[in-house]
Amino acid sequence: MPSPISKLTSNSQRVRLLVLSSLLALVVVAGSSFVIYQRYRSTTQRINYSQLYRIAEGASATSLVVEGETMTVRTTDGSLMQATVTSGAAQEGLIELLRKRNVPIEFRALQPGLLATAFNWLLPIIILASLGFIGWRVYTSVSGRDGTFKPADSNGKQNVNFADVAGVDEAKAELAETIEFLRDPSRFGRLGGRIPRGILMSGPPGTGKTLLARAAANEAGVPFLSVSGSSFQEKFAGVGAARVRRLFAQARKLSPCLIFIDEIDALGRQRGRGGDSASADQDQTLNQLLVELDGFDQTTTIVVIGSTNRPDILDQALTRAGRFDREITVNLADVRGREAILDVHARELQLEPGLDLRWIARGTPGFSGADLAHLLNEAAIAAVRDNSEAVNRSHVEYARDRILMGAERQGFMMDEDERYATAVHEAGHVAVGLAVQNGDPIHKVSILPRGRALGVTQQLPERDRLMKKREYLEDQIATLLGGRAAEQVLLSTMTAGASNDIERAVEIARRMVSEFGMSPLGPIHLGKPEDPHSQALLDRVEEATHTIINTQMDRACEVVRDAQESIARLVEGLIERDTLDADEIRECFADRNVVQAA
Ligand code: ADP
Ligand code: ZN
Repeated sequence: MPSPISKLTSNSQRVRLLVLSSLLALVVVAGSSFVIYQRYRSTTQRINYSQLYRIAEGASATSLVVEGETMTVRTTDGSLMQATVTSGAAQEGLIELLRKRNVPIEFRALQPGLLATAFNWLLPIIILASLGFIGWRVYTSVSGRDGTFKPADSNGKQNVNFADVAGVDEAKAELAETIEFLRDPSRFGRLGGRIPRGILMSGPPGTGKTLLARAAANEAGVPFLSVSGSSFQEKFAGVGAARVRRLFAQARKLSPCLIFIDEIDALGRQRGRGGDSASADQDQTLNQLLVELDGFDQTTTIVVIGSTNRPDILDQALTRAGRFDREITVNLADVRGREAILDVHARELQLEPGLDLRWIARGTPGFSGADLAHLLNEAAIAAVRDNSEAVNRSHVEYARDRILMGAERQGFMMDEDERYATAVHEAGHVAVGLAVQNGDPIHKVSILPRGRALGVTQQLPERDRLMKKREYLEDQIATLLGGRAAEQVLLSTMTAGASNDIERAVEIARRMVSEFGMSPLGPIHLGKPEDPHSQALLDRVEEATHTIINTQMDRACEVVRDAQESIARLVEGLIERDTLDADEIRECFADRNVVQAA
């Protein structure tokens, strides 16, 4: 939320402003010098009274202008002769002389002259002022010294609360404690509990991270200070750090309050990569941020939320205990979440009675909250263009196609085939995971892309397994291979999406052979790869590893073949709803003799 006077404007905006004001100043300077030049360049020649009188005596005077004490005579050659004549008598004499010779005489009121004088005064002031303004802009953009970080509440969007953020219930729940703390810090002081002051919000763009933070501040009734991490990036060393210091000084004045740092990765990247001054400044900026966070004590009622879609590139010092030590992930919403988000944004729209938001939600897998807001907005525009009273299906379809065309370039949308293949793959994991005796319970399955994975099947270990039995490891391998098995059996194809599964399965199998002694080779230990081993031994380890993999692959294929109907139900559910929880999974497999309940 860039507000015009705060220093929250981005670098490019600042550069533009600089260029603009310099241009403006140039125009003013050039213009005024032109005017001044015009005034004094004109043929007007300053002379004294006797010279003027002599001209009047001669025949060359063609006109006289009297303007207060200034008398100007025009001569036949067009030049202007001007003298200041303070004595009334002397003026009389000259006027008399010319009047007798029928030279036209004009008396001008003094006012315009006054105006001109005033203008002469004003001009330098204007020039000075604009020069000063430019200087100030340059100075502040370099040193950032005008720096009040205005609470973002002051720009009108303050009425966002949790009801306006939909489909992110987990994130909301995780923020509840923070809100409690901001609302009534004394309670937490008494209980002695440690409240996380730094929260990292990670997730794809447009999923409502900013919105959530803003709503949290609003729910707690505290000011919301919003800055972008990129606004701390400066060419000059120390400037970003000074800005961080000011931000926190401001926050301490406003406390209790919530600071939101968007794109925190811009200033929180790993330190010490480059030797140039820009990265040196960045290091200083990050250090300053760490200093500020470490300076929080029991009495500080400030919560800092940093938002990023690249948590992996953050400097580890940033996520250490006492700093940004809690991470809240905000993921793309599933079909129910999307419906809820659409519900929020459809509040002010006139929808045709037959238009079902669930229908829109089903047709927009992979859309972020921002995409959905955009979709409804585009649909409303299409409706206006049609002179329609209300938004209908065709408007929505039109809007969706428009957004998809844009989105395809970004490559985050899967087409129907890909979604189907992903659903089958994940269903394979689920089927095998449910069939094996020793696996971890399956908690959730989803075909929403996360990170680089197209889908996920989440298993939650019931407890930390200290002892990993051979059967457990074998079941893990089978479950990992379940995805590929389903592709082979049900789609008669293979996708590259299984490569990570296979890598992990082979890794487990290899350790079973080379470290745990769980193969016909008996108790061998290979140790580090760089240790010398005979090629023959290595070959045998590879062979034993492959035997394990192949055995488990056959087992997975068998399970998949057996569970085809249940898998089909699961696939259908996934296509429709993106994500299924344990209960819904169990429903799909209800007719089967499921060994383990999730
Ligand atoms: P992020 O900070 O994650 O990039 P924003 O919070 O800036 O995303 O979201 C941009 C806009 O998209 C919001 O102002 C809101 O209109 C819409 N939006 C995003 N997520 C949601 C959501 N979960 N519920 C309602 N609206 C959302
Ligand atoms: Zn997989």
